Amino acid sequence: MTVVVLGVDALDPDLVDPVDHPHLCLERHERIETIVSSAGEPSTHELWPTIITGLPPDEHGLVLDDGVAWENPALNFASTVADYMLPESIRTKIGAWLLNNTAEDAFRVPATYYAERGISTVFDGIASKAIGVPNYVVDTESDDREHQLRRNMGDLFERDPDAKGGHTSANVAEFYEQCLEMMMIRVARTRRALRSRQYELVFGYTSGLDLIGHVSHDRPKVRNRAYGELDQLVAELAGDLRADDTLVLVSDHGLQNGLHTDEAMVASTTPGLLEGVTDVRDIRGAIERAIRQSDYSPESLWDEQRSGASAERVAEQLEDLGYM
Ligand SMILES: [Zn+2]
Repeated sequence: MTVVVLGVDALDPDLVDPVDHPHLCLERHERIETIVSSAGEPSTHELWPTIITGLPPDEHGLVLDDGVAWENPALNFASTVADYMLPESIRTKIGAWLLNNTAEDAFRVPATYYAERGISTVFDGIASKAIGVPNYVVDTESDDREHQLRRNMGDLFERDPDAKGGHTSANVAEFYEQCLEMMMIRVARTRRALRSRQYELVFGYTSGLDLIGHVSHDRPKVRNRAYGELDQLVAELAGDLRADDTLVLVSDHGLQNGLHTDEAMVASTTPGLLEGVTDVRDIRGAIERAIRQSDYSPESLWDEQRSGASAERVAEQLEDLGYM
């Protein structure tokens, strides 16, 4: 069997309704505590490493004010200057903004970061597939359609400190379509990895709902539609599960009125899995319990002996026929 985790950035427990969104609630759902960063709100940059390691940010080391944001190539020069000119608190705020700015390539810390520091993750030692997980980048050379869309949003998603949610969009309808495309791409990749039957753990992630939340605070209809569509996408993913597979939905924080809130959520098709899960640090343990409970044997479509004639028998027959 396969354990499938779908990470949905900013999936908010207050906005998920068991009647309207049965597939976002699955068999059991819980609101859980999350961790506020030094910028004053929960941070995507810090929290996905927490979810995959079970460690708080100061232990896994990927924290907003560690300078990671400043390693962004676009800011190499600015950061040198900033070291001298800006107080730490302002640097942290700007760093948080940089990491959320779609024009830059954010959350690209390679997967090797963890092993190099002796930090274990939920992916270690099993047949696993990580799809777009922030700051766990398996192949730093490649990106997918969600990455490309995020990088090229331009004025569809622009930082505006004066706007209520801190962002504006030049065209909300087109912005919505692009965010939904991001969500669909990542759900589709997650489904594909599940259907391949090659993994004990498939962990997909999408940031589309977070982006929508940042600009749709004064458009409840848009936000509700996004939750409704996500519910349908998760239903399609759940349709690919076999009886002994497990699906877990998880978020890093909520999002209301354009701002991250201090609550996250988790849901699962296996209710018992969520026993004792009250905090984002508990997610890793729950995923590992699900993996331990399962019998896993990969379906070897490509490795097994081809049925019918082996290579020797083909050679014999060709010999018999006088071709060899
Ligand atoms: Zn986030």
